[in-house]
Amino acid sequence: MGVLRTVSNFVFGMECLGCGSSSERLDPWLCPACATELVRESALPAFPNEDTFCLFPMRPLTRRLVHALKYRNIPGLASYLVRHSSAVKRGMVGQELLMLAQPLHFAPVPLHRARYRERGYNQAALLAAALATATGGKLCRMLRRRTFVVSQTKLSKEEREMNVAGAFEMARLREIPMRGSIVVVDDVFTTGATTSACLAAFGANFPLPLKVCTLLYDEPSTAAADFAADCRADWDGMVRRKNAALRL
Ligand SMILES: [Zn+2]
Repeated sequence: MGVLRTVSNFVFGMECLGCGSSSERLDPWLCPACATELVRESALPAFPNEDTFCLFPMRPLTRRLVHALKYRNIPGLASYLVRHSSAVKRGMVGQELLMLAQPLHFAPVPLHRARYRERGYNQAALLAAALATATGGKLCRMLRRRTFVVSQTKLSKEEREMNVAGAFEMARLREIPMRGSIVVVDDVFTTGATTSACLAAFGANFPLPLKVCTLLYDEPSTAAADFAADCRADWDGMVRRKNAALRL
Protein backbone atom coordinates (compact mmCIF):
# COMPACT_ATOMS: atom_id res chain seq x y z
CA MET A 1 0.00 0.00 0.00
CA GLY A 2 2.94 2.31 0.69
CA VAL A 3 4.08 2.29 -2.94
CA LEU A 4 0.50 2.63 -4.22
CA ARG A 5 -0.04 5.60 -1.93
CA THR A 6 3.17 7.28 -3.01
CA VAL A 7 2.36 6.78 -6.71
CA SER A 8 -1.24 7.93 -6.35
CA ASN A 9 -0.22 11.00 -4.36
CA PHE A 10 2.25 11.82 -7.11
CA VAL A 11 -0.29 11.32 -9.92
CA PHE A 12 -3.48 12.64 -8.32
CA GLY A 13 -2.11 14.91 -5.62
CA MET A 14 -2.96 14.69 -1.96
CA GLU A 15 -6.65 15.46 -2.37
CA CYS A 16 -9.33 13.18 -1.04
CA LEU A 17 -11.58 12.08 -3.94
CA GLY A 18 -14.58 12.32 -1.61
CA CYS A 19 -14.37 15.76 0.00
CA GLY A 20 -11.46 17.33 -1.91
CA SER A 21 -9.62 18.22 1.28
CA SER A 22 -5.86 17.89 1.36
CA SER A 23 -4.75 15.06 3.54
CA GLU A 24 -1.56 13.10 4.02
CA ARG A 25 -3.55 10.19 5.36
CA LEU A 26 -5.23 9.08 2.15
CA ASP A 27 -5.76 5.33 1.81
CA PRO A 28 -4.88 6.07 -1.15
CA TRP A 29 -8.07 7.72 -2.45
CA LEU A 30 -10.01 8.85 0.63
CA CYS A 31 -9.33 10.67 3.87
CA PRO A 32 -10.17 8.68 7.04
CA ALA A 33 -13.55 10.48 7.44
CA CYS A 34 -14.67 9.72 3.87
CA ALA A 35 -13.40 6.11 4.12
CA THR A 36 -15.56 5.62 7.24
CA GLU A 37 -18.50 7.31 5.51
CA LEU A 38 -18.10 4.97 2.52
CA VAL A 39 -18.39 1.85 4.65
CA ARG A 40 -21.36 3.36 6.51
CA GLU A 41 -23.17 4.13 3.25
CA SER A 42 -22.91 0.52 2.15
CA ALA A 43 -24.35 -0.80 5.42
CA LEU A 44 -27.68 -1.39 3.73
CA PRO A 45 -27.10 -2.80 0.26
CA ALA A 46 -30.06 -2.33 -2.09
CA PHE A 47 -32.16 -5.04 -3.69
CA PRO A 48 -34.11 -3.19 -6.40
CA ASN A 49 -35.65 -6.49 -7.49
CA GLU A 50 -35.32 -10.13 -6.46
CA ASP A 51 -32.51 -10.83 -8.91
CA THR A 52 -30.42 -7.71 -8.32
CA PHE A 53 -27.97 -6.83 -5.59
CA CYS A 54 -26.31 -3.36 -5.36
CA LEU A 55 -23.32 -2.73 -3.09
CA PHE A 56 -23.90 0.98 -2.40
CA PRO A 57 -26.75 3.49 -2.62
CA MET A 58 -26.13 6.55 -4.80
CA ARG A 59 -25.09 9.30 -2.39
CA PRO A 60 -22.91 12.40 -2.97
CA LEU A 61 -19.77 10.46 -1.94
CA THR A 62 -20.45 7.33 -4.00
CA ARG A 63 -21.55 9.48 -6.95
CA ARG A 64 -18.20 11.31 -6.90
CA LEU A 65 -16.31 8.03 -6.67
CA VAL A 66 -18.10 6.30 -9.54
CA HIS A 67 -17.63 9.47 -11.57
CA ALA A 68 -13.89 9.35 -10.80
CA LEU A 69 -13.81 5.67 -11.77
CA LYS A 70 -15.40 6.43 -15.13
CA TYR A 71 -14.03 9.81 -16.10
CA ARG A 72 -10.85 10.50 -14.14
CA ASN A 73 -8.88 7.50 -15.32
CA ILE A 74 -8.62 5.81 -11.92
CA PRO A 75 -9.26 2.13 -12.69
CA GLY A 76 -7.94 1.08 -9.26
CA LEU A 77 -11.10 2.52 -7.70
CA ALA A 78 -13.12 -0.49 -8.94
CA SER A 79 -11.50 -3.05 -6.65
CA TYR A 80 -11.15 -0.42 -3.90
CA LEU A 81 -14.92 0.17 -3.88
CA VAL A 82 -15.77 -3.52 -3.98
CA ARG A 83 -13.35 -4.27 -1.11
CA HIS A 84 -14.65 -1.35 0.97
CA SER A 85 -18.33 -2.15 0.67
CA SER A 86 -19.59 -3.47 3.96
CA ALA A 87 -21.51 -6.14 2.01
CA VAL A 88 -18.19 -7.62 0.88
CA LYS A 89 -16.46 -6.97 4.21
CA ARG A 90 -19.18 -8.78 6.13
CA GLY A 91 -19.42 -11.58 3.61
CA MET A 92 -22.99 -10.61 2.68
CA VAL A 93 -22.20 -10.69 -1.03
CA GLY A 94 -20.70 -14.09 -0.50
CA GLN A 95 -23.78 -15.31 1.39
CA GLU A 96 -26.12 -13.89 -1.22
CA LEU A 97 -24.17 -15.40 -4.06
CA LEU A 98 -23.19 -18.64 -2.34
CA MET A 99 -26.86 -19.58 -2.30
CA LEU A 100 -26.55 -19.82 -6.07
CA ALA A 101 -25.12 -22.83 -7.87
CA GLN A 102 -21.33 -22.63 -7.92
CA PRO A 103 -19.01 -21.65 -9.55
CA LEU A 104 -20.03 -18.04 -10.11
CA HIS A 105 -19.28 -16.52 -13.50
CA PHE A 106 -19.18 -12.72 -13.39
CA ALA A 107 -20.18 -11.31 -16.79
CA PRO A 108 -19.47 -7.57 -17.17
CA VAL A 109 -21.77 -5.35 -19.21
CA PRO A 110 -19.56 -4.61 -22.21
CA LEU A 111 -18.53 -1.07 -23.05
CA HIS A 112 -18.87 0.13 -26.60
CA ARG A 113 -15.57 -0.14 -28.47
CA ALA A 114 -15.32 3.62 -29.08
CA ARG A 115 -15.80 4.37 -25.38
CA TYR A 116 -13.33 1.65 -24.44
CA ARG A 117 -10.70 3.23 -26.67
CA GLU A 118 -11.36 6.61 -25.08
CA ARG A 119 -11.32 5.32 -21.47
CA GLY A 120 -8.79 2.52 -21.80
CA TYR A 121 -10.75 0.14 -19.56
CA ASN A 122 -14.24 -1.14 -18.94
CA GLN A 123 -15.20 -0.28 -15.36
CA ALA A 124 -17.80 -3.08 -15.29
CA ALA A 125 -15.09 -5.63 -16.18
CA LEU A 126 -12.88 -4.30 -13.37
CA LEU A 127 -15.79 -4.57 -10.93
CA ALA A 128 -16.55 -8.11 -12.15
CA ALA A 129 -12.90 -9.10 -11.64
CA ALA A 130 -12.95 -7.63 -8.11
CA LEU A 131 -16.17 -9.48 -7.27
CA ALA A 132 -14.70 -12.70 -8.64
CA THR A 133 -11.66 -12.24 -6.39
CA ALA A 134 -13.87 -11.46 -3.36
CA THR A 135 -16.08 -14.51 -3.82
CA GLY A 136 -13.78 -17.08 -5.43
CA GLY A 137 -15.66 -16.83 -8.75
CA LYS A 138 -14.47 -16.25 -12.30
CA LEU A 139 -14.50 -13.32 -14.69
CA CYS A 140 -16.27 -14.40 -17.87
CA ARG A 141 -16.75 -11.99 -20.79
CA MET A 142 -19.88 -13.60 -22.13
CA LEU A 143 -21.63 -10.54 -23.52
CA ARG A 144 -20.91 -8.17 -26.33
CA ARG A 145 -22.59 -5.10 -27.72
CA ARG A 146 -24.58 -5.45 -30.87
CA THR A 147 -25.15 -1.82 -31.83
CA PHE A 148 -23.93 1.59 -30.83
CA VAL A 149 -26.00 2.92 -27.96
CA VAL A 150 -25.99 6.65 -27.23
CA SER A 151 -25.25 7.84 -23.69
CA GLN A 152 -27.99 6.71 -21.30
CA THR A 153 -27.66 9.51 -18.82
CA LYS A 154 -30.00 12.05 -20.40
CA LEU A 155 -32.80 9.75 -21.49
CA SER A 156 -36.15 9.07 -19.83
CA LYS A 157 -36.93 5.57 -18.54
CA GLU A 158 -38.92 4.72 -21.68
CA GLU A 159 -36.23 6.10 -23.98
CA ARG A 160 -33.54 4.17 -22.11
CA GLU A 161 -35.45 0.93 -22.40
CA MET A 162 -36.05 1.37 -26.11
CA ASN A 163 -32.45 2.40 -26.58
CA VAL A 164 -30.86 -0.68 -25.03
CA ALA A 165 -33.38 -3.46 -25.72
CA GLY A 166 -31.62 -5.94 -27.98
CA ALA A 167 -28.30 -4.11 -27.65
CA PHE A 168 -26.38 -7.14 -26.35
CA GLU A 169 -25.70 -10.66 -27.51
CA MET A 170 -23.74 -13.66 -26.28
CA ALA A 171 -20.12 -13.54 -27.35
CA ARG A 172 -18.91 -16.51 -29.36
CA LEU A 173 -16.97 -18.21 -26.62
CA ARG A 174 -15.07 -21.41 -27.10
CA GLU A 175 -16.70 -22.66 -23.94
CA ILE A 176 -20.03 -21.57 -22.53
CA PRO A 177 -20.21 -22.47 -18.81
CA MET A 178 -22.36 -25.56 -18.33
CA ARG A 179 -22.65 -25.37 -14.56
CA GLY A 180 -22.73 -22.73 -11.86
CA SER A 181 -24.46 -19.34 -12.11
CA ILE A 182 -24.05 -16.16 -14.11
CA VAL A 183 -23.87 -12.76 -12.40
CA VAL A 184 -24.15 -9.80 -14.77
CA VAL A 185 -22.08 -6.88 -13.41
CA ASP A 186 -22.54 -3.17 -14.08
CA ASP A 187 -21.53 0.07 -12.37
CA VAL A 188 -24.95 1.68 -11.76
CA PHE A 189 -28.47 0.24 -11.63
CA THR A 190 -31.17 2.86 -12.27
CA THR A 191 -34.13 1.61 -14.27
CA GLY A 192 -32.61 -1.81 -14.88
CA ALA A 193 -32.93 -1.36 -18.66
CA THR A 194 -29.28 -2.16 -19.37
CA THR A 195 -29.03 -5.22 -17.17
CA SER A 196 -32.44 -6.49 -18.40
CA ALA A 197 -31.15 -6.24 -21.97
CA CYS A 198 -28.07 -8.21 -20.89
CA LEU A 199 -30.19 -10.91 -19.27
CA ALA A 200 -32.32 -11.09 -22.42
CA ALA A 201 -29.17 -11.78 -24.45
CA PHE A 202 -28.82 -15.15 -22.72
CA GLY A 203 -32.16 -16.22 -24.21
CA ALA A 204 -35.17 -17.84 -22.54
CA ASN A 205 -33.64 -21.34 -22.57
CA PHE A 206 -30.29 -20.54 -20.99
CA PRO A 207 -29.85 -23.32 -18.44
CA LEU A 208 -27.96 -21.54 -15.62
CA PRO A 209 -29.39 -19.15 -12.99
CA LEU A 210 -28.90 -15.46 -13.85
CA LYS A 211 -28.41 -12.64 -11.33
CA VAL A 212 -27.28 -9.03 -11.43
CA CYS A 213 -24.80 -7.24 -9.16
CA THR A 214 -23.99 -3.54 -9.52
CA LEU A 215 -21.80 -1.14 -7.61
CA LEU A 216 -24.47 1.55 -7.10
CA TYR A 217 -28.21 1.76 -6.93
CA ASP A 218 -29.53 5.09 -8.18
CA GLU A 219 -33.20 5.50 -7.42
CA PRO A 220 -35.02 6.55 -10.59
CA SER A 221 -36.31 9.69 -8.79
CA THR A 222 -32.72 10.79 -8.05
CA ALA A 223 -31.73 10.09 -11.64
CA ALA A 224 -34.73 12.17 -12.79
CA ALA A 225 -33.62 15.05 -10.54
CA ASP A 226 -30.13 14.82 -12.07
CA PHE A 227 -31.65 14.87 -15.52
CA ALA A 228 -33.70 17.98 -14.61
CA ALA A 229 -30.58 19.67 -13.18
CA ASP A 230 -28.65 18.83 -16.36
CA CYS A 231 -31.43 20.30 -18.49
CA ARG A 232 -31.53 23.41 -16.33
CA ALA A 233 -27.77 23.84 -16.67
CA ASP A 234 -28.04 23.39 -20.45
CA TRP A 235 -30.93 25.87 -20.58
CA ASP A 236 -29.17 28.44 -18.38
CA GLY A 237 -26.04 28.10 -20.51
CA MET A 238 -28.05 28.53 -23.69
CA VAL A 239 -29.80 31.67 -22.34
CA ARG A 240 -26.44 33.13 -21.27
CA ARG A 241 -24.89 32.40 -24.67
CA LYS A 242 -27.90 33.89 -26.45
CA ASN A 243 -27.81 37.04 -24.30
CA ALA A 244 -24.08 37.38 -24.92
CA ALA A 245 -24.64 36.99 -28.66
CA LEU A 246 -27.40 39.63 -28.65
CA ARG A 247 -25.11 42.09 -26.91
CA LEU A 248 -22.51 41.77 -29.67
ZN1 LIG B 1 -12.47 13.12 2.42
